[in-house]
Order: sequence, then C-alpha cells, then structure tokens
Amino acid sequence: MSFRIGHGFDLHRMEPDLPLIVGGLRLESDFGCAAHSDGDVVYHAVTDAILGALGEDDIGQLFPDKDPQWKAADSRVFVREAVKRMLVADYRVNNIDITLILQRPRISPHKRAIRAALADLLVCDIDQVNLKGKTNEHVDAIGESKAIACHAVVLLERVEAEEPEPRIEPPEDEEPEAEGEEP
Ligand SMILES: [Zn+2]
Repeated sequence: MSFRIGHGFDLHRMEPDLPLIVGGLRLESDFGCAAHSDGDVVYHAVTDAILGALGEDDIGQLFPDKDPQWKAADSRVFVREAVKRMLVADYRVNNIDITLILQRPRISPHKRAIRAALADLLVCDIDQVNLKGKTNEHVDAIGESKAIACHAVVLLERVEAEEPEPRIEPPEDEEPEAEGEEP
C-alpha cells in the first residue's frame, strides 16, 4: 500500500465587522477575515495539505488572489478541486489532523459540524477527520484576535485495484453428478 503525506498552513488577518468563516461555518464574532476569498483558513490549509501530498501546485498558484473570479469565493470550491485531483491520482484520505489557532470565539461547540462538513467534502468518514482548537494564550497577533491560523496534516492512501475473486474449486472428494438411471 502506498501513502503520501501532506501539510498545509494558512493565516489570515482579522479585522472588525467582517464575517468569520471557519471550516465552512459562519461563526458569531466581532472580527472576521480580510481575504480575497471567504478567508476560510481551515479549508485553505486542508486544500494545501492535499495538493502538497499529491506534489501539485499550491492553492495560491491554482487560484491566484489577483483573479477576480475567486473574489469572495466559497472555499469549498478549493477543497473540491484538490479532492478531484486526489481521486484522479487514485488516492483517498486515510486521515487528516487539523489544528486551528484563534483566540476567540471558542471552537469546541462547532467541532463536530466542521468535521462532518469536511468529511463530506473529502469523501471519507467523520472519524477520519480530526480538529483541534487552540488559543494563542493572548500572545502575538493571533492572541490579540488580529489573525487566525490553521495547520493541516493529511495522509493519503493509494486506492489499490480490486483483487480478482479467487476461483472456487470443488472439493476433490465430491461425488460426481448423478448421470441419470442406467437403462
Ligand atoms: Zn487563506
């Protein structure tokens, strides 16, 4: 069995009175991400982790932030493109581990919903998707809610061609079929 590992990292600046979209959910917050797309650090880190595992161009190369078509884009588009490339290359997600770093709001009430939505996008089960939330202990830009960051590590597993069904030989001592009555 062949595996490939990938890491993705993303960070966005936060500013007052912008929407905060994290892992596909809009969270209640006074601060949101200043970004060209919807600024979802989780989906961006996940996209880069998968692309990295495949050895492909990263999210910034595939979806340049100078391209107006990605303005305010729903970041599910980026994850779906990475997943499409993964499936074409005959890989599937073995597991993904995500660390989201933000000072507030608390992420724990939303963990399960974020994992479930990601599992759908990644064509895997929720127990293959892990999410950890951390604060930055009020230190630095993230701790002051001026930024939000996310790391994702993914392990991809090659989809092996199906083994042919083994031929079932009849047992050697089986009685031959009755040939019908002797005349
Ligand atoms: Zn981003």
